[in-house]
Amino acid sequence: MFCPKCGTEVRDEDQFCSKCGASIYGAEPDQQYTSYNAQPQYAPVDNRKSKLVAGLLQLFLGGFGVGRFYLGYTSIGVAQLLVSCLTCGIGAIWPFIDAILILSGQVPADADGNTLKD
Ligand SMILES: [Zn+2]
Repeated sequence: MFCPKCGTEVRDEDQFCSKCGASIYGAEPDQQYTSYNAQPQYAPVDNRKSKLVAGLLQLFLGGFGVGRFYLGYTSIGVAQLLVSCLTCGIGAIWPFIDAILILSGQVPADADGNTLKD
């Protein structure tokens, strides 16, 4: 076996290292190593976006693509904004339908692929 402190090979029946004198059995783990492993584990943060928030934003502000911007679909949001403006509001039927799709769960994830929470 080997000395836990200096790595020198020592006889199995030895209790102390012949080179550095460290105890072979019950050796204290390195202090830095111990404190490093004692770091508190932080619970993962639930930063998923809300389906309800996205749907309501899209329902009331869908003409500006707000619900889609909220979900990170920037290009779709811009497209809805442009379509609504260029058609003097008639094109806002698209974001309105989009809002229903979001609220009914047809848009399962945001632009980053994170599933939406209810
Ligand atoms: Zn040693």
